[in-house]
Amino acid sequence: MTQPPVHAPMSQFAVRDGELLVNGWPLRRLAERVGATPFYAYDRGLLRARAAELRAALPAAVKLHYAMKANPMPALVALMAQLVDGIDVASAGELRVALDADADPREISFAGPGKREAELRQAVAAGVLVNVESERELALLPGIAQSLGLPARVALRVNPDYELKGSGMRMGGGSKPFGIDAERLPALLGTLGREGLAFEGFHLFAGSQNLKAEAICEAQRLSYELALRLSAHAPAPVRCLNLGGGFGIPYFPGEQRLALGPIAENLQRLAERAARELPQAALVLELGRYLVGEAGVYVARVLECKVSREQVFLVTDGGLHHHLAASGNFGQVLRKNYPVAIGTRMDAPAVESASVVGPLCTPLDLLAERMALAEAGEGDLVVVFQSGAYGASASPQGFLSHPGCLEVLV
Ligand SMILES: *Cc1c(COP(=O)(O)O)cnc(C)c1O
Repeated sequence: MTQPPVHAPMSQFAVRDGELLVNGWPLRRLAERVGATPFYAYDRGLLRARAAELRAALPAAVKLHYAMKANPMPALVALMAQLVDGIDVASAGELRVALDADADPREISFAGPGKREAELRQAVAAGVLVNVESERELALLPGIAQSLGLPARVALRVNPDYELKGSGMRMGGGSKPFGIDAERLPALLGTLGREGLAFEGFHLFAGSQNLKAEAICEAQRLSYELALRLSAHAPAPVRCLNLGGGFGIPYFPGEQRLALGPIAENLQRLAERAARELPQAALVLELGRYLVGEAGVYVARVLECKVSREQVFLVTDGGLHHHLAASGNFGQVLRKNYPVAIGTRMDAPAVESASVVGPLCTPLDLLAERMALAEAGEGDLVVVFQSGAYGASASPQGFLSHPGCLEVLV
């Protein structure tokens, strides 16, 4: 009989005396230091290691940006700002955090549909690159630039005429609220120079959580070629070609880590082409999840072990309101378990099939369903791995009015 698929081993965190370590801190002591559960903990060592690993793998000519909507915790953004070449923001609120983190405004880009006029003004005043998502935004910018007496730096986000295969969430191709349809761009590009906008390039982002290296390579190649075709209509040389993010991490049983080798080789070929065909252009990757997702854990305390008709329920103080994604309600079609462990009993064998639930009065509040876990008791700490991205800020913390969660950078 074939074995059922298992989770990729969460070997990035060390274990000592049966306790998970977060950047050297044993979990119980860390919980005491934080002062309360539940909390998210992000490991500086792992964040640094991941950025270094990417740098080593990717061609030196490719710029690495952090897409901070994956995790906007200010202390973490400040650390990331030191590790990458730039920050991608998706709101004026994120822009403020990026600027506070001392990110260089010349290396900040601002994407996202439906930018309010006030947000566009803030972006132009800050001197960041606006990734324009619509003809409305394009129409607002010249007046803003004029009234501020500053150039509006713009890149056009392109909604391409293809889709990225194998991606969890598709953000390009077909009918989309993101970007401007590629076929409309030649005519629009012709008007940009006359409007006094500072054209800098193109932005393409096909989709998130992609674990297939070939699919990412194909999307990046197609993005490059589309941008190259569009550049013929541009009023100025392309200086920035943002190929998006979307590198995935393994969450579910059977999933493997993304192979960086083929992606690096493909980018090397594109960088060589760009040096000839778009000689002023920097290729940019804007990664969110891949940079921070594996460096974070969510930690909740077991309040009660309850048995209902033989099924064990570990009732914790954490749940869906802090970690919507682990509950399966953030982009999953069929609910699957995130990697979960009893962080205070890491050396104990997984003997019981337990469900980990939260305190919310809804059956959706599940952190793990019938998972093989070490036997746990009241006071033990449950850990949800792969929680560094799309966690706290992507969860409905007000739902049911329980206390919010804490976040620490360790
Ligand atoms: C969310 C987002 C990203 C980051 O996506 P990941 O899948 O986390 O890498 C990059 N660019 C844009 C425009 C985004 O909206």
